[in-house]
Amino acid sequence: MNIPNLLATHARKYPNQEALVTPTERLTYFEWNRAVNKLANSFHQFGVQQGDKVVLHMPNTKEFMITYFAVQRLGALIVPINAKLVEQEVSYILNHSDAKVFLTHELLFKQVEALSETKDLIFIKTGERIGEWLSFENLLADGSEKEVPCSLEENDEASILYTSGTTGAPKGVVFTYRNILTVARMICIEMTLKPESKVLHMMPLSHSAPLHLFMVAGTYVGATHVLVPTFTPELLLETVAKEKTTHFFGAPIAYLASCKHPKINDYDLSSMNYWVYGGAPLSQQEVNVVQSKFQTDRLICVYGLTEAGPNGTLLGFDEHQTKAGSIGSRAALDCEIRVVDENGADVKPGEIGEIILRGEGNMKGYYKDPEQTAAVLRGDWLYTGDMAMQDEDGYFWVIDRKKDMIISGGVNIYPKEIENLLITHPNIADVAVVGVPHSDWGETVKAFVVKEGEVDNLADSCKEFLESKLADYKIPKLYEELEALPRNATGKLLKNQLRERVIN
Ligand code: ATP
Repeated sequence: MNIPNLLATHARKYPNQEALVTPTERLTYFEWNRAVNKLANSFHQFGVQQGDKVVLHMPNTKEFMITYFAVQRLGALIVPINAKLVEQEVSYILNHSDAKVFLTHELLFKQVEALSETKDLIFIKTGERIGEWLSFENLLADGSEKEVPCSLEENDEASILYTSGTTGAPKGVVFTYRNILTVARMICIEMTLKPESKVLHMMPLSHSAPLHLFMVAGTYVGATHVLVPTFTPELLLETVAKEKTTHFFGAPIAYLASCKHPKINDYDLSSMNYWVYGGAPLSQQEVNVVQSKFQTDRLICVYGLTEAGPNGTLLGFDEHQTKAGSIGSRAALDCEIRVVDENGADVKPGEIGEIILRGEGNMKGYYKDPEQTAAVLRGDWLYTGDMAMQDEDGYFWVIDRKKDMIISGGVNIYPKEIENLLITHPNIADVAVVGVPHSDWGETVKAFVVKEGEVDNLADSCKEFLESKLADYKIPKLYEELEALPRNATGKLLKNQLRERVIN
């Protein structure tokens, strides 16, 4: 079993089943598979072969869906990267991944145009040919329709996904077909995906959750993919109502932003069976708002990380009534979870330890980085770097990332606890807490804040605000106001940049 063959099988079994729906086009499984063959044959003419890397810089479009499968049909590795990445970031990944082909969308062309002057690879863009840049449409038109034979094994390498780099330089996570299929099968079963399902893709398909959880899983069962290149609350509500979609994965912020849409009540969202979120929690209060605004009790939280496929844990519909904010009490299908101390021994409920995960979804390793791989993949277990606690009912609560933990005077401090309080201060629009070197304590706590409204002395006001809420050693001693906090293309905070700022 391999992923590219899956698509060819569907094309034979249900040729007329709707496969791809974009704002302007509708393709059946037969048409999708034909385009995949044409592109694969063209790539083959250009010498792309098993083991080569093809970097795909593309929003959620039919071109993304065609290229993903065409590349894998040749046994080459697909490297999908976030469409928002700019020249320097793309250049890092092109070099690091040893790419042979780089493919971008004409709307992103300006961001990366200069790359062709410095790099010796095959450059492709959608739209017309420009200089070094071949036209995607020409490649598609010129390619033969002949079915490309594909004899890959489950343990062959399928793709490299780069982490977003919130905890250091982006790392290339290598997946085999077995890893990806494990995660896809988990979602098919846990979220009852079937050929009649219509999966809405608005989050970047370059990220493991939208890609493996819903794009590959949807294809696995022969479902319809509804592709929307960017997220806005209006587009989400409109597309669900118009296309009668059944499954959606979004970051918590996508749900919270949509709740503020003034006309949310006017949209018929009743076709949706699974509203899925992950990457960060939604608090109980936020869940109540989302459930009432979306008029649904069908919220599911997924916890995981790129390195795990991202298979991890699930928080189901009913559990959202009392355990929102947690990541559930059980691992998802084909995964196991433990919370352990530094020696790898299980900690007791109520104690904080690191989450470790075991399952076939876990990555093969980091590309060209055996040291980092050995640091996180120990035996069968993936060390997630997430610190968590299990409550008396067996529910896991993520406290913070291990790398963000501050050790001051030998005591562990979790910045998230402080950030969650400071963000409720009336004069704070955004906040990040980090540890900075201190001669006596090892580290001390510093808060970077984005101010909102007028206040005489924000630092004093923050200290006073936290006094009754936190132990003294956790209250930030240092404050710095910023216009905005550094965030990556997906909106995640880049704390490493803040730490570097302190040191330099
Ligand atoms: P990098 O690994 O480079 O820092 P990243 O943060 O984007 O990049 P991801 O794999 O996208 O990496 O993020 C996974 C992390 O997101 C998890 O390790 C965890 O800290 C957090 N996370 C994921 N799902 C949840 C959830 N449901 N609740 C709380 N935190 C979550």
